[in-house]
Amino acid sequence: MGDNAARKPSIDLEECIGCGSCAEICPEVFAVTEEAKAYVIAEGKCDTCDCEEAAEICPTRAILLE
Ligand code: SF4
Repeated sequence: MGDNAARKPSIDLEECIGCGSCAEICPEVFAVTEEAKAYVIAEGKCDTCDCEEAAEICPTRAILLE
């Protein structure tokens, strides 16, 4: 949990296809715009969900965790 919370997510907009999976898993961290691109609402909120899982489930691997 601690490690996960420390990781900062970002989105590679070139790769994102707007599927919404990340926002389903981590609704406090990710949202998708009307243009079908994900964005990070709150990069410090990975302690409220599983950002690792969101990154793994992303079909285009557009979620970067650093
Ligand atoms: Fe974009 Fe990946 Fe999120 Fe889908 S899961 S909206 S492709 S960042």
